[in-house]
Amino acid sequence: MPTVLITGTSSGFGLATTVEVAKRGWDVVATMRDLGKRGELDHAVAEAGVGARVRVAQLDVTNSQSIDAAVALLDLTNRPLDAVVHNAGVAVGGAFEDLTEAQVRHVMDVNYFGVLALTRKLLPFFRAQRRGRIVIISSESAFAGQPANSPYCASKWAVEGWAESVAYEFEPFGIDIALVEPGAYRTSIWENSPRVLPEASAYRPLLRHLEAAVDAYVAKTARDPVEVGKAVAKVLDAPHPRFRTAVGPTAKFEHFARGKLPSTLMRKIFGRFFQLNKVRW
Ligand code: NAP
Repeated sequence: MPTVLITGTSSGFGLATTVEVAKRGWDVVATMRDLGKRGELDHAVAEAGVGARVRVAQLDVTNSQSIDAAVALLDLTNRPLDAVVHNAGVAVGGAFEDLTEAQVRHVMDVNYFGVLALTRKLLPFFRAQRRGRIVIISSESAFAGQPANSPYCASKWAVEGWAESVAYEFEPFGIDIALVEPGAYRTSIWENSPRVLPEASAYRPLLRHLEAAVDAYVAKTARDPVEVGKAVAKVLDAPHPRFRTAVGPTAKFEHFARGKLPSTLMRKIFGRFFQLNKVRW
């Protein structure tokens, strides 16, 4: 059985991916930063009848001791690891000027530096095996900027730039790297992400308008996260996966538009879609 380690499996894509890949015969080390939140995963895994293929372990991607302990549990000198899925992620909503340095850094710590830290720890084993697959859950937010979401977009752009670069370095060792880029899906990220909207914010009219417009958009269009779990499973199973896999219609459109449409035109399309011309300053 091939083995995969997945981060952030207490909910959303991480949970859905665990179930999907276990159903396809993978052994899964399903990690989460708070084992007190494992109930939903345990239930889903039991319901799918794949309990024997899933081991749950603690891993906070921002904590080096936690990474060391999780990797030690894998016993990689005696047992191979075939793949890792970097799924853990956070966001913070708000205008850049209203956000603190700590809020911005936290998003980068999880979505960018967390990916790097865990990869760094696994690379010696992947190189020794002369194989390994690194899958990163990026986002359509890596293709085009979004208002009130700058730390998140920046973190996904950063991780994509990093992935494009290290792909050259890893390839000679048989290690491949692939990005999965979903659009909007119904997961806990919307409730888990703080929204920063101070009374005195200079951006209040825009933020109020966007909050309502984006919530309505998500409620109407956000899709089932199982779709992303299946897409990740396909990337894991493929002999030679594509470097980028966009999942969902908006991600596919933005994937197509990337590099073809000028940023000013993308901004106009986004502005019209969310009726930013109706903001009364
Ligand atoms: P989610 O349900 O909130 O899942 C995020 C997971 O990351 C949770 O399990 C969370 O654990 C975990 N996490 C947060 N900080 C962590 C840390 N320091 N160490 C380890 N785990 C940590 O949201 P999701 O939508 O499934 O997000 C999964 C990935 O998909 C993220 O990378 C996100 O950026 C990306 N994405 C989401 C969407 C979407 O529409 N939902 C679209 C594109 C991309 P706790 O439960 O402990 O907080």
